[in-house]
Amino acid sequence: MKLETAHMRYLTPEDFNVLEGVERGSINHELVPTSLIYRLSTMMKSQGGTNRAISDLAKLNLITKIRNAKYDGYKLTYKGIDYLALRTLLANDIIYSIGAIFGVGKESDIYKVSNDQGETRVMKLHRLGRTSFQTVKKNRDYLKKNDMMGTNWMYLSKIAAGKEYEFLSILHEHGFNVPKPYFVTRHALVMELIDGFPMRNLRRHNFKGRSLDKLYTDLMNFIVKLAKSGLIHCDYNEFNIMIKNNINDDDVDELGFIVIDFPQAISIDHKDAEYYFKRDVDCIKRFFIKKLKYQPRRDTVWLDESGFGDGYKYPYPIFHRDVTERVDNLDEQLQASGFNKKHPSEQSNDIESALINMRGEKAEIYTSDEENSDDDDEYGSDEYTDDSEDSSDDYASDSESESDGENERIIEALSS
Ligand code: ADP
Ligand code: MG
Repeated sequence: MKLETAHMRYLTPEDFNVLEGVERGSINHELVPTSLIYRLSTMMKSQGGTNRAISDLAKLNLITKIRNAKYDGYKLTYKGIDYLALRTLLANDIIYSIGAIFGVGKESDIYKVSNDQGETRVMKLHRLGRTSFQTVKKNRDYLKKNDMMGTNWMYLSKIAAGKEYEFLSILHEHGFNVPKPYFVTRHALVMELIDGFPMRNLRRHNFKGRSLDKLYTDLMNFIVKLAKSGLIHCDYNEFNIMIKNNINDDDVDELGFIVIDFPQAISIDHKDAEYYFKRDVDCIKRFFIKKLKYQPRRDTVWLDESGFGDGYKYPYPIFHRDVTERVDNLDEQLQASGFNKKHPSEQSNDIESALINMRGEKAEIYTSDEENSDDDDEYGSDEYTDDSEDSSDDYASDSESESDGENERIIEALSS
């Protein structure tokens, strides 16, 4: 979805005030009555002015009018919340210009943005619920089964963005290889741009002399270390691992990859922790065996000195809180899902269901669609053996389609 910012420049501070009024009203009202919008639009002096703003906002599809039996009211649209988020990012000097979309995740749109120093960053707009409507048949069953029909996806998108920001902040502070987060507002997260490409585009013959042994080892060590700190990623796969374009060959400690996409991570004390951990391990293993034709060796040394793990095919973290191997309780700090069995979740069922969907079934639905559409089912096709298709210089770029030259300045939108 293109981020449509063209009308931002025509909106007055009063229009934004009314838009914020609708946003505030949405916290407790599915449909915000006009009388409430009057009260919440604090800057507005007259009802006439508010009515004019409401009608302008509706024309631009930032809010939408809905009639129901009892009263008419307005709802914020995704475009409306996009505008509010962008305005906050601009006001805080987090972004200055915005480029075209360059990555589409399962439930997010990813844009390149830059700040006023010209530094490029990434803006991730969470759009939960989107996959639920893509494949109608599958999702009708899916929605029914999970009882998510009347869900407030916009609210859940905000929660997911906030969670992802917290996870990235703490993990980054603790030295994990994750993007540095800069700011979050509503459903929008701004973070460091990784100079790399998703591991799904990695091919054996294109790895420029780097070692698959080392990559496999480091990837496994990463999730063991994460688990020792109390967390399990739950969507650890080739889509969420970015391979860096440039690494320092002389530095053996350099990992060469960055792990992204965290909102669905859980505590190691979660009741399904072991299941998710093994699934994460298996995703990586499967990718290495099938796509990279790499057979993990029984004697592969990817365990740390403490001998953590079974020493063979995959590592094992310890699934209990009170063990010496635990180095940190990041799950507790982050209130990650499942960290406290007595109070399993502080979160509402809706939030927990949405997060379960992100780490569970839906991930599989979407992944299998993607695989069917642009990959071979058996991982055996020429795509992975034909050098001409994957020339070493562009194997990294299938998600990057737009040049920076096409960046559209949105700062002007607010200075009019
Ligand atoms: P989703 O939760 O929807 O799966 P992701 O966070 O996995 O979203 O992002 C989707 C895609 O966008 C990734 O596969 C990657 O190609 C790209 N991407 C996301 N974050 C970054 C980043 N910080 N730097 C570079 N590319 C990124
Ligand atoms: Mg992802």
